[in-house]
Amino acid sequence: MPMHRDADVVYVTREIPDAGIEVLESNCEVHVSDHASQDPPSKDEIITRLRKLKADGLFCMLPDEIDADVLDASANLRVVSTLSVGYDHIDIDAAAERGIAVGHTPGVLSETCADLVWTLLSATARRIVEGHQFVEDGEWKTWAPKMLTGEDIHGTTLGIIGLGKIGTAVAKRGAGFDVNVCYTSRSSKPEREAELAECGIDATYLPLGDLLKRSDHVSVNVPLTDRTTGMIGREEFQKMKDDAIFVNTARGEVVETDALYEALDKEWISRACLDVTAPEPLPPDHPLLEFAPGRLVVTPHIGSASIPTRNQMAKMAAENITAALRGEPLPNGVRTSSTSIS
Ligand code: NAP
Repeated sequence: MPMHRDADVVYVTREIPDAGIEVLESNCEVHVSDHASQDPPSKDEIITRLRKLKADGLFCMLPDEIDADVLDASANLRVVSTLSVGYDHIDIDAAAERGIAVGHTPGVLSETCADLVWTLLSATARRIVEGHQFVEDGEWKTWAPKMLTGEDIHGTTLGIIGLGKIGTAVAKRGAGFDVNVCYTSRSSKPEREAELAECGIDATYLPLGDLLKRSDHVSVNVPLTDRTTGMIGREEFQKMKDDAIFVNTARGEVVETDALYEALDKEWISRACLDVTAPEPLPPDHPLLEFAPGRLVVTPHIGSASIPTRNQMAKMAAENITAALRGEPLPNGVRTSSTSIS
């Protein structure tokens, strides 16, 4: 039975931006994990803290696995809110069965994530990381016609897998590079095509196989679900152009890592850039890194990591918690098949 207390208790699994803490503290008693942000609490620690605090709310983030055991740790728990748009680390069905609302941060990070897609794509195409290393290593002796030549982005065809909020923001930026856009999603998106047409982008819907064959560069922007796990494997890489650049900023598990290794090794594709990996974090001795920095650039899951965006995400995730604890609909709730958490 939930117990009555003067203030609802919220457990936060890591230090978060002040904007989020301020929202929580004006409504609740807040307990922040004393772990440094680089060192997340284990699942057992999260369970122990929730149990001891008899927490009403849980503010979590991507590395926290929120399964039935965590959800059962406190009988008072009424809401879980994650500092991310993706919620594949939360057992949504288990939360729905327990009547626990789940919140996330859609939309607010789309532009920042799209910026990173283009940063990675251009850095990889123009061998920026390799070039920097070249300078630091004292290799820069002269100007040479074939030195560090890479791929063009302007005038190419960019294939976007998943024309959602981030995919659309990625497509819009293509206008500045004069690219053609093709996309695939579960269904065609006439309203998004119209939005893009206003920005000068002619976006064409294609089935995945055709998109891979036609695109010069490919960006993955789907959520991780049962259907997207392993969506890009050997067969898909073999369909891509051999001078293609492959960008994954979605989730590592959408791509079969062994197949990506083979695609780079056998030169089925030219280069890849990843903000997400499987495994994640990518160990420094992982075989994929054989291709870095010349044909592979990896960033450590920093898609939404700008200061303004992280501040907004923290506020948004906190507002999900305070709304749920007041018994109101979440401003940004995750919809599940068995409940309709708005
Ligand atoms: P969104 O607006 O929900 O868009 C997702 C898109 O994926 C939709 O267009 C959807 O198409 C499509 N999709 C879903 N399942 C599909 C399938 N089986 N085959 C083809 N397309 C499919 O989500 P978003 O805000 O753009 O975010 C997308 C994902 O990016 C997140 O879920 C997260 O995993 C990842 N992300 C990563 C970072 C980072 O730090 N690297 C940051 C933010 C987000 P339909 O509409 O046709 O279903």
